[in-house]
Amino acid sequence: MGERLPEALQEKISKRLSYYQDLGIDLFFRNRSANFIAEQIAEPSAATPTHREATLSKTPRGMTPSSIPSALKPGAVKLDILPPPPVASLFDAMNRVPNDTLLKVRTDLGECTRCKLHSTRKTIVFGDGNPKADLVFVGEGPGHDEDVQGLPFVGRAGRLLTQMIEAMGLQRQDVYICNVVKCRPPENRLPERDEISTCSPFLMRQLDAIAPKVIVCLGACAAQTLLETNRGISHFRGQWMEFRGRRLMATYHPAYLLRNPNAKGEVWKDLRKVMAVLGLEGRKGKSAGAGSPSGAGKLS
Ligand code: URA
Repeated sequence: MGERLPEALQEKISKRLSYYQDLGIDLFFRNRSANFIAEQIAEPSAATPTHREATLSKTPRGMTPSSIPSALKPGAVKLDILPPPPVASLFDAMNRVPNDTLLKVRTDLGECTRCKLHSTRKTIVFGDGNPKADLVFVGEGPGHDEDVQGLPFVGRAGRLLTQMIEAMGLQRQDVYICNVVKCRPPENRLPERDEISTCSPFLMRQLDAIAPKVIVCLGACAAQTLLETNRGISHFRGQWMEFRGRRLMATYHPAYLLRNPNAKGEVWKDLRKVMAVLGLEGRKGKSAGAGSPSGAGKLS
C-alpha cells in the first residue's frame, strides 16, 4: 500500500492539476525517473504498461520543453528574412487545445490567483478586440489605466498604439490586443519569470484560438516570451520570425516610443512590412499618407 501524502502536499498537487486542466491538459502519466527508464531499457519485460497513475507531468501543454519562456533558453532565436510559410510543425500542433475559443480560455483563467500579481491587481486584463483578427498585438502587462478599466492599452502608450493601428488603415476593433501577463505588476515593474511562465500558457491559447496571420510583439518582454530567448530586441526587431507556424514581428513598445520619439520611424518601417503581408498597403489610414522617407510622420 502506498503512503498517504501530507495534506498540504495533496492540496498543492490538486491545485497544480487543476491549473494544468485550465491549460487544456487533462491526461497525466507517471513521470518516470531516469533510473526507472534505464531499468526498463535493461529489462523490457519488467515494463508494465497497465501501471499508469495520475500524477504530474513535467511540462504543461503549450509549455513544452521547447516553449519554456525566455531566459531558460538563451540564444534560441530563429532568424528569418522572409515571412515563413504559415504551417505549424507537428510538434506545435500536438500542443494545441482542440477547438479552443477565447471564451473557454477566459473561463479557464477565472478569477485567477495563480501568481502573486493577483494580490495587487484591481482587474484582470484579458484582451480586447476581434476574436478572429488577422493581426494581434502583444504587449507586456497592464499599467494603471488598464488595471482600472480592465482593457489593454488604454493609457498614454495605448493612445499611441491606437494611432499606429489607424496609421495602418485599421481600427482598434479590427485587431486583437493582449499582454504577456494579465495582471498589473506593482509600480509597473517588469513581469517576473514565474509570473510570465504561469500566465503565458493562457496567452498561447489565446493566440491559437484567434489564429492570426501576424503577431506583432510590442517590446522585449512579449518578443522574448514568444520567441523563447533572452536576446535583446534590437537583434531581431523588424525581421520576420516564426511562432508556432505564424509570422511574428517584434517592434518597439509604444511606451518606449513616448520616451524616444526618434524611434517612431523604425517602428513605422516594421508596421509597413506587416501591412504588406496583410495586403493593407493600398489602404489609407487616418494618419497614413504617401510617406515621408523616414515614415516618422505617420506616428507623430
Ligand atoms: N503596456 C502594456 O504592455 N500593456 C498594456 O496593456 C498597457 C501598457
